Amino acid sequence: MNKFYITTPIYYVNAQPHIGSAYTTIAADVLARYYRAQNYDVHFLTGTAEHGTKMATAAKAAGQTPQEFVDTNSRLFKTAWDKLGIKYDDFIRTTETRHESAVKKFFLKLQKSGKVYEDEYQGLYCVGHEAFIKESELDDQGNCPDHARPPEKIKEKNWFFKLSDYADLLKTKITSGEFQIEPPSRRHEVLSFIEQGLEDISISRPHVEWAIPLPWDTSQTIYVWLDELFNYCSAIGYGSDQEKFNTYWPADLHLIGKDIIKFHCVIWPALLEAIGEPWPKKIFAHGFFTVDGQKISKSLGNAIDPLDIANEYGIDTLRYFMLRDIPFGSDGDFSHARLKARYNADLANGLGNLVSRTLNMIEQYSISPLTKGGLRGVKELDSQHPIDNLQSKIDTHIQNLAFDKALAAIWNIISQADELIEETKPWELVKSAGKTPGVNAKTPGVDEARVKLEQVLSQLYQSLVAINEHLAPFLPDTHAKLTDLLAARPIKKPVNPLFARKK
Ligand SMILES: [Zn+2]
Repeated sequence: MNKFYITTPIYYVNAQPHIGSAYTTIAADVLARYYRAQNYDVHFLTGTAEHGTKMATAAKAAGQTPQEFVDTNSRLFKTAWDKLGIKYDDFIRTTETRHESAVKKFFLKLQKSGKVYEDEYQGLYCVGHEAFIKESELDDQGNCPDHARPPEKIKEKNWFFKLSDYADLLKTKITSGEFQIEPPSRRHEVLSFIEQGLEDISISRPHVEWAIPLPWDTSQTIYVWLDELFNYCSAIGYGSDQEKFNTYWPADLHLIGKDIIKFHCVIWPALLEAIGEPWPKKIFAHGFFTVDGQKISKSLGNAIDPLDIANEYGIDTLRYFMLRDIPFGSDGDFSHARLKARYNADLANGLGNLVSRTLNMIEQYSISPLTKGGLRGVKELDSQHPIDNLQSKIDTHIQNLAFDKALAAIWNIISQADELIEETKPWELVKSAGKTPGVNAKTPGVDEARVKLEQVLSQLYQSLVAINEHLAPFLPDTHAKLTDLLAARPIKKPVNPLFARKK
């Protein structure tokens, strides 16, 4: 059995689940569902990042201990993903014992690799990023441009990792495609970053109160970013369940946002190389949203709660809109007007209407019985029927993470079915058709209208079956409802609206 190990980044618990984290997690969920349906042994991992100064400070502000704070906030993510119908296989928290003990084993191995040394670090540190920042990256006021505040000036003892040793290997594996970075714009960005020369990185810091101690020097704690990256290995049993680890590692796909490519595409593979583990096969970085044309910011108060959208329009509308409207990998705009337009045109009037029209005609015109293959006895279908190559189109688009194109291919079948109805006008055919099914007529031409009517409705029904099958990973709720509708004979009257707004 082929396996497919897919991960999202683990999310910082000092912020609530937002539209960006929902976007990555929904995309991962679609892929996990798709590969499960293809009989892969899928392992879908998500989770929360819970260490570091940022958490300790946020906990203090909330009047809680760090542990209380991260327990409460991690639950918000689980709840949100449950409400959005995300079916992950595992949820890792970096404060769990299984993670902390695996990280310690990983660091001891890293120390033995000979790629670790002690030195003094002098420079700037942005707590918002939990990362060192260069003078050249600051804005005119001397602030971190992303966090609008000055970094801390730091002079301290750190342990370092010889990242600079890995530039050639990284270039070779990225250029050959052995280590895949997608989309190509991100691959070029990573290669040009490596081209500028790699500096060694700090792997530990002194005096960080809410972090994992460095196993060989407990005056230091492990730099949170490296602790976090290792979740992809700790969650599948690194150092404790070797069989499980061997089953799933290396990851087939790390889905990330474009802001964390340096950590995932440069530092992470180098660390794995140092401890003798294979690199992930592929890293795909998606883009960012604006909301109604504006950058998401606290001062504008335009952050979107994905649960609000799901409450109003249903989970599937949120999933459909995000994956259909914005090519995965590009930046995009989350426009409320376009969400509504897509909901009306593509879902309620598009798919919803086709389903109710088709099932109503089948019932009203006494077309029966139906099987998954269509009408019994009606075999003669147009050989150019578009559902013939839908599967291979979708397979290709999914492999490229082109969710928008996969959905467009499904919606193309919907348009063609609508056209078939308009061209053949079943409501006129039925007027001249006899009541007896014409397919068994011995004499051709006896009841052509009846034969044609049954062929048309059979074709429509088969289109719905195909659409429903391919919708499953994208719109799981709709898939469940439609499966029920397609199986029910006599049909449920009135045909339940597939897409009903709740507000
Ligand atoms: Zn910053």
